[in-house]
Amino acid sequence: SVVILRIDNLVKHYGQVRAVDGLSLEIGQGEVLGLVGESGSGKSTVGKCVLRLTDPTAGTIELAGRDITRLSRRAMRPLRRDVHMVFQDPFSSLNPRFTIEQIVGEPLLRHKVADRRGASERVSAMLEKVGLRQEMRSRFPHELSGGQRQRVGLARALILEPKLVVADEPVSALDVSVQASVLNLITDLQRDMGFSCLFITHDLSVVEFLADRIAVMYLGKIVESGPKAEIFAAPRHPYTQALLSAAPVADPVRQRERRRIVLGGDVPSPVDPPSGCRFHTRCPLAYDACRTDEPSLTDTRGDGHPAACHLITADRIPDAAAHR
Ligand code: SF4
Ligand code: MG
Repeated sequence: SVVILRIDNLVKHYGQVRAVDGLSLEIGQGEVLGLVGESGSGKSTVGKCVLRLTDPTAGTIELAGRDITRLSRRAMRPLRRDVHMVFQDPFSSLNPRFTIEQIVGEPLLRHKVADRRGASERVSAMLEKVGLRQEMRSRFPHELSGGQRQRVGLARALILEPKLVVADEPVSALDVSVQASVLNLITDLQRDMGFSCLFITHDLSVVEFLADRIAVMYLGKIVESGPKAEIFAAPRHPYTQALLSAAPVADPVRQRERRRIVLGGDVPSPVDPPSGCRFHTRCPLAYDACRTDEPSLTDTRGDGHPAACHLITADRIPDAAAHR
């Protein structure tokens, strides 16, 4: 299948802060990758590098086969049609002086894909797709609810029919009561329009229905990735096992059966990450080698579900819940 986004060995350091420290991933056409991690794991930095809102320190980023890592702002401009961002806080990303019609239609005019009249028609169709009434066109962002503003953010991101959408915590600033409806909308739009999506979130349950694959980040690196169903059913890395054990599940039987893994301490500082396995300061299964040897992200079983842990062998998967 066609690869829309390929990230190879991405590094982004802000001074002493090693936000992203050697990360590789791929997203195929029409595929949704959920990039999951606690705050400070570097997941938002990955999104910013892909959008070229910040320059990577090292590594490469390819968009639809084209290396965009070192493109100038000017050379990047036409490619901005192909990749769009949906932000956590739609309010700060929507110009308060513009009407909803201007905000949603602006990318069409900027990229000269439509004249005013054509833009107006496409805005109309797009508002309908995201479930906003036509009378919203003349409103300003401050007149809208959080959920409506996020729908405007989606309409603006999708109006050029991008190949890739980077969504950074798009529902976490919304009231819980509207989160589900916006997530369902994103799911429907993705299935309908077929864009690829890098969906960044701290909350695994948010991507349970949306993602095709999941990649779990810890301190600037991916510790496990694989098909969503396998990550949820049989997580391999002790960190993923802990995250999942803390995520709410709808089924009360499953909830009772599940053994909660409580991690000690906070995420260590990305200024001075722990030696060896970066997770060793919090891992219930850590042993001597974990403090000195760094495990690599390896597909030990050759089944497209790699994890970075010394304890994973061809016939053994660690179980962090068994150790208390
Ligand atoms: Fe835990 Fe060691 Fe595996 Fe790291 S390598 S996840 S510290 S057991
Ligand atoms: Mg973030």
